[in-house]
Formats: sequence, C-alpha cells, structure tokens
Amino acid sequence: MRIETEIKLDFKDVLIRPKRSTLNTRSDVDISREFSFRHNKQPYQGIPVIAANMDTVGTFEMAKALASQRMSTALHKHYEVSQYVEFFRALPPRDVVFYSLGISEQDEDKLHQVMQQLGASSAIRHMCIDVANGYTENFVSFVKKIRNAYQDIVLMAGNVVTGEMTEELILAGADIVKVGIGPGSVCTTRKMTGVGYPQLSAIIECADSAHGLGGRICADGGCTTVGDIAKAFGGGADFVMMGGMFAGHDECGGEITVRGDEKYMQFYGMSSKAAMDKYAGGVAAYRAAEGKEVLIPYRGPVENTAQEILGGVRSACTYVGARQLRELSKRTTFIRVTQQLNEVFGKN
Ligand code: 5GP
Repeated sequence: MRIETEIKLDFKDVLIRPKRSTLNTRSDVDISREFSFRHNKQPYQGIPVIAANMDTVGTFEMAKALASQRMSTALHKHYEVSQYVEFFRALPPRDVVFYSLGISEQDEDKLHQVMQQLGASSAIRHMCIDVANGYTENFVSFVKKIRNAYQDIVLMAGNVVTGEMTEELILAGADIVKVGIGPGSVCTTRKMTGVGYPQLSAIIECADSAHGLGGRICADGGCTTVGDIAKAFGGGADFVMMGGMFAGHDECGGEITVRGDEKYMQFYGMSSKAAMDKYAGGVAAYRAAEGKEVLIPYRGPVENTAQEILGGVRSACTYVGARQLRELSKRTTFIRVTQQLNEVFGKN
C-alpha cells in the first residue's frame, strides 16, 4: 500500500484569479476553437462543449439543437441501426456529432453495420469509445482495432484519470482522451467502489500528458455550473462533456412528471439500475449499479441553457483577458479557496 500526499483538486476547491487585460467587452471574445488531431488530420472547428452519450441527453434532437449553437453531442448507443443511418445521412458536414459505442461484440457489430450501410462516403466523422474503466488491456486493444478499421475518423476514447493511461490511449489511436472517473452527477462509482480522482487535477494532469503527444482531452463529468466549465477549460481541457447540465430539456429522452404545479424529468446514470432494467434486463448478478436515478426540474428548450454556457465561458475569458478560448488555460491562475458561493438566500 502507498499513500500519495499531494493534494488533488476539484472544481469546488478553486476559483480563477482575474487578470488585467485590454479586453473591453465579452463580445470581443471568441470561444470557438480550431484543432487538428494527432491521428486524424481533419480540422475541428466549433465550440468544444459536448452533450454526454447518455440516453436521456445524447439524443438526435439534442444533436440538432446544439449543432445550431456550434456545440456537439455524443449520441447514446441505443438507437437502431436504421435510425443512425438516417440521421448521419442528413448530417450537415460542419456539425460535429460523435457515434458512441462500448467494447462489446454487439456494439462493434452495430458499428460495422451502420458504417456499411452508410457506405464509403460515411457521414460518421467522429466516434467515441466509452467504458466506465479505461484501464483494461481489452479496452486498449479495442481502441487499436477501431483505429485500424476506420482511419478517417476523429476517435475519442475513455474514461481514465491519469497521465500514463492518457498517453497509452493516444498511442493506441485515440485523438481525444475522455477524462473522469466518478465525478458525474448521477454516478455512484466513488461510493460503491472507493475509486476516483478529483476532476480538476485529473484534467490538469491528463491534459499535460496528452498535449505533449499532440493529443486532446475531453473533461467528462462533474460540471455543475458554468463556472466549472470555465475551470475545466482553464485547467487545460480541450473539450468539456456534460450530462446533468444538459438534462431536463425538451430535447432530452425521458418522461415529464407533474408534481403539484411543477414539472420534472427523469435523469439517470447509464450504469444505474434504471438503465440496466431498460437495456440489459436488470442488474446482472456479478455487478452492482454504479449510477443513480433522479427527478430534475423541467427546463424547457436547451437553447437557453446553451446561451447561458456560451455567455458564462465568454465572461470567464474576459476576466482573465483571453481573447480566444485557446488562451484561457495559459491565462488561468487557480487560487485555492475554502468557500465558493454566498448561499445566504439559497443555493441558486
Ligand atoms: P455530469 O455532467 O452529469 O456530471 O456527468 C456526466 C458523465 O457521467 C457521463 O458523461 C459519464 O461519463 C458519467 N456517467 C453517466 N452515467 C453514469 C453511471 O451510471 N455511472 C458512472 N459511474 N458514471 C456515469
């Protein structure tokens, strides 16, 4: 047994220190980014915020709504082959939408079917291989296999939280490594297993490793406010993925429940009992659920939330004098704090 005594940080432990700048207004700030990737040379252009591949959030409707704001969506993996084919055939070339899959044989078969039906000029340009634990050999081999089979795609893979595994995945063929174990709003991994890593430190450390190899990272999970998104970018994230912040909207999957005068929507983790009942016929005997199910207030169209995100990140850039989102991490100094918010009038 070993103990690492260096303190690791979460979003709640820091604030971003404001800096003198020549920027007068947030409208001077450009929060889109242009990237190239290590394996796939097609350029990325857009606002690097991604709705998570959870079946309540990563829907076709979400993908269309967020694309109109130049943001992205990782689709969930539970649509039918024909539905993906129809969706991707109609996808405008500039929209960035990730096709997601796990590493099961079924997921792989489904991917090949979709790709075959879409044909040589496939409109799938972005893919996300997603597992709860990105530390297994099987996972690394799968990433290599998919990279070899589909050279023309931008490949995101995860999740991991440490530099050495980030490097291994990039060398195996990932363009973007997805970072986060346990920070999610409906995740119970830390509670059920004791495993995890404070998300901001994971982002800082993995970004450093990835960037050294010409790779990118996507900070996945744990953003509860727009300020957290700014901190993730400030810490070096190239993309930020969110589930909970995009949940509860018209574009989401899930029923609306009315209680008294209030409307609510169901939201659950993809390893929750609710998800396993729906897709796997229940929780298998050898495993425990590592996600939970919640009812959250219904929030109308996602456009308003998207605008809030854009406005908040733009404002964060203005406070530190970053004219472009690309400059935010260079201009970020985190200060450790013991308090974030004044909640005397409630938590909102
Ligand atoms: P959020 O933005 O809601 O804090 O986090 C979203 C992320 O939580 C997802 O992108 C995914 O990585 C993770 N996640 C989703 N469902 C589950 C689950 O059931 N268990 C765990 N451990 N993580 C989950």
